[in-house]
Amino acid sequence: MTFLMTIVATLVVLIVGDFLSTFAYHVPQHLWFTLHLRTHHDRRRSYFDHAILSLDPAVLLDGVLGALPYLGVAAFVWHVSPVGALLGLALGQLHVWWRHTVELGWKTPAWLVAIARPLQIVLPEDHNGHHLNPDVEFGDLFRFYDAPARFCLRFVRADRRRRRQALRRLKGESVKA
Ligand SMILES: [Zn+2]
Ligand SMILES: [Zn+2]
Repeated sequence: MTFLMTIVATLVVLIVGDFLSTFAYHVPQHLWFTLHLRTHHDRRRSYFDHAILSLDPAVLLDGVLGALPYLGVAAFVWHVSPVGALLGLALGQLHVWWRHTVELGWKTPAWLVAIARPLQIVLPEDHNGHHLNPDVEFGDLFRFYDAPARFCLRFVRADRRRRRQALRRLKGESVKA
């Protein structure tokens, strides 16, 4: 029973944490803010360096804000299983390091791809895709958050375009009038 609770708490930290981090932090950062784009997507620096090694306060702040949802969920499941909560956080942190290793030459072996694909786990090669094109490959840990995240981006951007066009039309009409 304890073992089962540990597994459940671990999975909740990872799955719910990734959901909240993606939709409450990562996607809003890509839409309305600059911190994450200035730090995590700074193409002048190696992303391994600024995701893993950097002590730059802005880089650290981006990391901490992205991690807060996981910490919040871990606090929430603490009473179910403290070990599971800590295991979830530890696995999440290990995955941060691992998913940034493509720059160091990491290539996921075929057997691991075969395990990760059906479980929808983000591989370093997938996350590398997010660094190459910031509009794709959302979800820190799980790829099933990518499609809804992209939908949010498309929806908000289309809405923004519509508003701008409406405003322009309105201005045009007021100039004519
Ligand atoms: Zn990254
Ligand atoms: Zn991003």
